[in-house]
Amino acid sequence: MALVVKKFGGSSVADAERIRRVAGLIAEDYSMGHDLVVVLSAPGDMTDDLIEKAREVNPKASRREMDVLLSTGEQTSVALMAMALEALGLPVVSLTGWQVAVRTNTEYSNARIERIDKERIESELDRRRIVLVAGFQGLNKYDDITTLGRGASDTTAVALAAVLRADSCQIYTDVDGVYTADPRKIPGARKLAEITYDEMLELASLGAQVLHNRCVQMGKRYGVEIEVLSSFERKPGTKVKEVTDLEKTKISGVARDTEVSRIALVGLRDEPGVAFRVFQTLARDKIVVDIILQSIGRDGTQDISFTVARADTERAASLLAAQQTQLGFARIDTDDKIAKVSIVGAGMMSASGIAATMFEALYDAEVNIGMISTSEIKISVLVDEADSDRAVQAIHRKFFD
Ligand code: ADP
Ligand code: ASP
Ligand code: MG
Repeated sequence: MALVVKKFGGSSVADAERIRRVAGLIAEDYSMGHDLVVVLSAPGDMTDDLIEKAREVNPKASRREMDVLLSTGEQTSVALMAMALEALGLPVVSLTGWQVAVRTNTEYSNARIERIDKERIESELDRRRIVLVAGFQGLNKYDDITTLGRGASDTTAVALAAVLRADSCQIYTDVDGVYTADPRKIPGARKLAEITYDEMLELASLGAQVLHNRCVQMGKRYGVEIEVLSSFERKPGTKVKEVTDLEKTKISGVARDTEVSRIALVGLRDEPGVAFRVFQTLARDKIVVDIILQSIGRDGTQDISFTVARADTERAASLLAAQQTQLGFARIDTDDKIAKVSIVGAGMMSASGIAATMFEALYDAEVNIGMISTSEIKISVLVDEADSDRAVQAIHRKFFD
């Protein structure tokens, strides 16, 4: 008998029929004698709909109240799933994040899990109940509701698997595994049987939303093997683990992120401490900066361009504009019609010519490259958003056809 943590995403619980089907899957596993902890996301587009509703009422609603609102989506799912399981005659209990006691830091809308009490869950499992846990939510030190960031029910699931020392952690979604590119957009995308935590973390951070990036980080840190599976058909999915047994291909996937924008500071003084002051200004407000490019100085001035999350563009630009005299730059340009296209693969560490192949694909597709950034296992380029579909297709074809 195993302790299994399962997580079902929003599309898997979007309507009554799907809820009943997932209840059927849960019932089958329960009948095999497993202890089951099941994490659920809000049904369908409910989170987006709630955000829209909030905007209608107050476009500047506080993040605290947004979290109170958004957490109701996941609460809806666990209650409805509990009812579906009750209808099958199974013992079940639904718990919100605060009933479990998922303790987080105080950063509303993007809180991090600090601690999870396992007593309640363990006592429910001891009574042979199926435990349903609302994903994506917790409670901070003020006993206020927090949410963990978009897509973070995955992270609730992996965190529970780590704390409960579960035998497996299964993430069920609307595709049957992790592919070499988004299978909904790239017809030739191939399913991967296995992928390393490091590669998956890069893919997830670079736009492949199939897993929340923090769940992959957590899986790596606590040694939780994660399996991504289809909630619609029973077949093997993709295993995310430390080392993969399969012979390595050079790259394991192509990802695209359109939630980025570029900020350029033009005509900065070319002297020590300028970059420090620019990025310190952003860091103080917890703005995450990604690709940074500094031009070669000319006439005592230089330009610095960098990317930030699109949602942070205005905040970043106005923080810098407020410091224009101290930082000494001529103007700020922002561009949010861009996208970041990346390839990821542990195999590229020991291979040559990977960057050349990627850039050749972009050349063939007549896509211009804005900025480039590399690490040991990834290469990212910035392109016009309008070119990004074509870019991903061309790169994927070059490496995988
Ligand atoms: P859930 O609601 O179950 O959490 P998500 O929408 O968050 O599901 O993630 C699943 C989606 O991720 C898929 O429908 C697919 O379009 C997208 N996706 C993006 N990149 C990939 C990839 N490399 N492999 C698989 N799916 C991907
Ligand atoms: N419902 C939340 C979201 O849409 C969390 C999740 O789905 O994982 O972002
Ligand atoms: Mg998701």
